[in-house]
Amino acid sequence: KRDFTNNRNIIKSSLPDVEIPHTPLHEFIFENFSRFPHKIAVECSLTGKKLTFEELRLKSKNLNKALRRKLKLQNKNVIAVLLPNIPEYSICILGALEAGLIVTPLNPLYTPGELKHLLVETEANVVITLCSNYDNVREALRSLPQQIPVITIKMHQSETTPQGSINFQELIDTKYDIEDIPYNSVDDVILRLSSSGTTGLPKVAEHTHKSIVANICHINTSHLRFSEDTTENHQDTIPAVIPWFHVYGLGVILLNNLRNTSKTVSLPRFSSDLYISTLSKHKAHVLYVVPPILLLMANNPLVKREHLKSVRVICAGGSPLGPLDEEKLIQKAGTNVNVLQRYGLTEASVVLLSSPLRKLQFGLYGSVGEIVSNTSVKVVPSENHLGESFGPNQLGELLIKGPQLMKGYYKRPKETTETFVEGWMRTGDLVYYDENKMFYVTGRLKELIKVKGFQVAPAELEEIIRTYPNVSDAAVIGVPHEKFGEVPRAYVITKPNAKVDVARLEQYVSEKVISYKKPIGGIVIVDSLPKTASGKIIRRELKLQYAKE
Ligand code: AMP
Repeated sequence: KRDFTNNRNIIKSSLPDVEIPHTPLHEFIFENFSRFPHKIAVECSLTGKKLTFEELRLKSKNLNKALRRKLKLQNKNVIAVLLPNIPEYSICILGALEAGLIVTPLNPLYTPGELKHLLVETEANVVITLCSNYDNVREALRSLPQQIPVITIKMHQSETTPQGSINFQELIDTKYDIEDIPYNSVDDVILRLSSSGTTGLPKVAEHTHKSIVANICHINTSHLRFSEDTTENHQDTIPAVIPWFHVYGLGVILLNNLRNTSKTVSLPRFSSDLYISTLSKHKAHVLYVVPPILLLMANNPLVKREHLKSVRVICAGGSPLGPLDEEKLIQKAGTNVNVLQRYGLTEASVVLLSSPLRKLQFGLYGSVGEIVSNTSVKVVPSENHLGESFGPNQLGELLIKGPQLMKGYYKRPKETTETFVEGWMRTGDLVYYDENKMFYVTGRLKELIKVKGFQVAPAELEEIIRTYPNVSDAAVIGVPHEKFGEVPRAYVITKPNAKVDVARLEQYVSEKVISYKKPIGGIVIVDSLPKTASGKIIRRELKLQYAKE
């Protein structure tokens, strides 16, 4: 057998390896709670609801026992968490993990159609959501063959628990009598996360205790760590606006903050007013953002330098951010603030490349940084993953190997095999690195569109468009958008001698999907679509065509 691996250009992290503890994720998170039991763990920026570390520990345990005793859930059953960022989220995650369940965090704003599909894909056995979202969930569950219990949380005390649902508050306030269960192995799956991968319809990436704990360890090495240790006199305050149903929000912000006993200020939704008022009210030390929020901070005159006075780090990730925008924010925030970027993907429990602190002082504008510990990467020709890997300053696809990678796509062996090339995971991203092994992301080879940092799989929209009367085929691409980064744009072929009303089609699609998936880039009727001999859409050509337009 020929060995195609070119070791010369395999790049290992320059940071020292870290030891990943063989501890289940929930125990790893709980480890430091007892040092600061009365400090606030999570506080809601909207309702003011608060949880201390002691309360969080106790209520997670109560939920763990209630799920097993009252709801009779078993090890490896799946719990779908459909919530905005609220303090109770942390109880749901930690209680479910302690109960030996697999958690699937989902966007609470999904339409019933989207939700039903994901509940089936993830094989959810129980759902937790807000009282106000109960009807939406019931609608999604209506056509499923099995009965799935729904637990509801009151966002505001004045709400009543919907009939037919289980009251969350009662579960966490009751001490059920049942033995604790030992966990089996750090290789057990604990998270099922929706992601579209490099091609096709959304799939479910599976993560283990080990992959998530590894990533939290990686971002806490002394070179990359943003948080300061909590003491009796100091606790970092970190707003959390990135949704916790995404692993950026869940792993890097919520779980990492809890592990570091930082105070998390949760924002259940994004609005510029709420974000700015949170910055005014809470002295934030670290801000995690997606590029559209960074742009808002840079450009909105209501965001003032004094809002950022206590901030040490502003970290952007999730989609591309240009060097000029980084610079703009520095001008507003002042040079004491570290403005930097990280890069990652759901399949890699998120952070793979991270900028060192003070990166801009080293002139690293636009860079997403260096490889995290225990991890190797290579940059290969996009058309030949087994080909010779590239040296510095050559553009190619990023391939990765490390302990933070997913186990695979749930029940999708073919897609999993296609994603791994001789043990290296394909990212579908086009990158290069400089002589100092600092990386730059220049584009995306995969189909994925990212709107405000949210994933949109073109195949999902194409499938919906094809169900519209008189449509024979469709292709969707991402086109640049000033505020959202990218937005979907559809090219549609009608059936012979048939007409399609574009405005009606737009409305049809918009009713079936969550707001960020709407075809904001427009729908265009065309005579033909560029395709390969095997019938695959050549999206690259459509993108070039759009650029010319
Ligand atoms: P997700 O799985 O939703 O986190 O999406 C991962 C994808 O987002 C990556 O494969 C990249 O295409 C993109 N992405 C994430 N972080 C960055 C970044 N800092 N710069 C450019 N693209 C990014």
